[in-house]
Amino acid sequence: MSQVEELFTLLDETASILTEELSCTYLEALAETGENLFQQAVLQEELSETTIKRLSKKYGEVNLGKFSKEEIRKSFQLALLKGMKKSVQPNHQMTPDSVGLILGYLVSKFVNVSSLRIFDPAVGTGNLLTTVVNQLEGKELALMGSDVDDLLIKLAYVNANLQKNPLELYHQDSLQPLLVEPVDVIVCDLPVGYYPDDANAARFMLKADEGHSYAHHLFIEQSLNYTKPGGYLFFLIPNNLFESPEAPKLHQYLKDQVHIQAVISLPLTMFKNEKAAKSIFILQKKSPEAKAPKNVLLVNMPSLSNAVEVEKILGKIDAWIQENK
Ligand code: SAM
Repeated sequence: MSQVEELFTLLDETASILTEELSCTYLEALAETGENLFQQAVLQEELSETTIKRLSKKYGEVNLGKFSKEEIRKSFQLALLKGMKKSVQPNHQMTPDSVGLILGYLVSKFVNVSSLRIFDPAVGTGNLLTTVVNQLEGKELALMGSDVDDLLIKLAYVNANLQKNPLELYHQDSLQPLLVEPVDVIVCDLPVGYYPDDANAARFMLKADEGHSYAHHLFIEQSLNYTKPGGYLFFLIPNNLFESPEAPKLHQYLKDQVHIQAVISLPLTMFKNEKAAKSIFILQKKSPEAKAPKNVLLVNMPSLSNAVEVEKILGKIDAWIQENK
């Protein structure tokens, strides 16, 4: 059994026991078992002696210290996927690591400094953020995440703890004022849809003239509010971002505030259907030093199983970076 399978099996078996014993969902039980594992104790006082013994025995069989951060993240990701199959609305889905791996590669290429602050304002389970940061080893990092969903943020907390990735978490509507000092890098798989709080939306330049505003537009503006001048933003956007009636306003806003760096369409094979397909959108917030690139990098990412094509595209991205950064 591989290390990832071994740890997944432990998470899965103990989460299944807790699902039954606590009459809760698998995802809730996963958060509980992750916390137990991290604290090396069974923390649920309502459990019977026998169940506590069963769980303690299982936790005792695995030494967390022997797993790498990525092995822990992947095991936890497998358990999250299993739990999400049963519940969770599409907009709350975890970002798969196929996307996070490309995004992490791009962050490491675009942002060439040894110390940086990274914020994900829709952190969810923390899978995207930790996939990215696990590719930035050797750098001094300060990590922040916020999310409105209490279960997902609990999972992010447990996930980051198990991986020993220090992550400051805020449980709130990320479109409300945040206690986050401006950061060097934003990464965010944007929640797509309407934002119900019209009164709060009114604070934003990208609010809709009538009716509810688009959450994804407001998230872009809010992210820029918390980015240092010259900082970079890496968004996962729906491919039709610029096709809505609100798009001209977004266009003008971006023209004023940022230098668009790149649009990288992800392969359709990564998504359920064409409508769900997304792209990576890279922006740099304007500053006196930041210069617009000669041209925007436009790339269609091939399927990751096509090693030859992937190699070619990474070469194209590297060449663009050499020329522009
Ligand atoms: N990257 C995340 C991960 O790897 O798990 C998944 C992001 S998911 C596509 C979008 C997230 O946005 C969900 O976790 C959802 O709870 C959150 N969200 C939606 N509206 C929000 C709001 N107004 N404030 C904070 N979070 C919000």
